[in-house]
Amino acid sequence: RKRQLALLTSVEPVTADGVKMRLSANISSIKELDIALNHGAEGVGLFRTEFMYMDRKSLPEEQEQFEIYRMVAEKSKGQPVVIRTLDIGGDKELDYFELPEEENPFLGYRAIRICLDHPEMFRTQLRAILRASAYGKVKIMYPMISSLEELRRANEALKQAKQELDQREIHYDSDIEVGIMIEVPAAVAIADLLAEECDFFSIGSNDLVQYVLAVDRMNEHIAHMYNPYHPAVLRMLRTTVEAARASGIPVSICGEMAGDERSLPFWMHLGVRQLSMSPQSLLRIKQSILHTSSTEAAHQAAHWMKLKTAAEIEQGMSSYNRALH
Ligand code: PEP
Ligand code: MG
Repeated sequence: RKRQLALLTSVEPVTADGVKMRLSANISSIKELDIALNHGAEGVGLFRTEFMYMDRKSLPEEQEQFEIYRMVAEKSKGQPVVIRTLDIGGDKELDYFELPEEENPFLGYRAIRICLDHPEMFRTQLRAILRASAYGKVKIMYPMISSLEELRRANEALKQAKQELDQREIHYDSDIEVGIMIEVPAAVAIADLLAEECDFFSIGSNDLVQYVLAVDRMNEHIAHMYNPYHPAVLRMLRTTVEAARASGIPVSICGEMAGDERSLPFWMHLGVRQLSMSPQSLLRIKQSILHTSSTEAAHQAAHWMKLKTAAEIEQGMSSYNRALH
């Protein structure tokens, strides 16, 4: 089966009735990028940069970060590379960076909140990303955005980072696209406002599910409650996609949901055309896309959206998927 999938590496992900999907990769290292490119990824939908900051003694400097981002951009050969700014806190710690003891780390000092609080560290990363944008189609993405002020403050830091490079006469893509993760319920609720001030959305379903359902994604006692197909989550996805469409910005999915072939009908129904997933999932999802009729799948998902419980929805998804293969 693995060998059979490998034959699909250079096949385009197009549904049986001709809808072109874009499948990109979630990576956290050059090694994963190589695997992704060998599995036919059309660029990088999520570069989790925090792993570059982990397992070391001090913050990585601009030059060191730049060299890695440039390598990712160059290896991707003009395909988009979405670099997410530092997403530490929650479950991810840095040995050399003192984070407060918190009762609820996932509701605490995390991601963009930390970066906005450490402007030097944040601008160092932004400059490194900007510099890499001279070597490929690099985009910037902010994690954990929960208000318009946060987006504006992050963009203010970006503007400053650009000015710093201008002073050093260093080139970068001055039209670099800037997007945000939609992974906090507040961001869903104001998605229409956020869409007016950024270039793209990427839905981080891993965190979104945890925050919408109030179910810690790391807690095994409630793992059975962590369900991306809860109607509340699906409605949030719909709200987000509709807001993006109304503003004319693209939206992709980069949480683990994207790597579940059973969810394809939802993307057909909602009109999502870009998925980013772990490199190991790419060929399997591509194969499912090739076997899917977008109109028929969309029709199914429209029906599932009306079901009242996650159990009923998952039952529908699973039996539809079984019938396809
Ligand atoms: C997410 O939250 O869905 C996501 C893609 O980001 P991470 O898993 O790194 O939090
Ligand atoms: Mg997340």
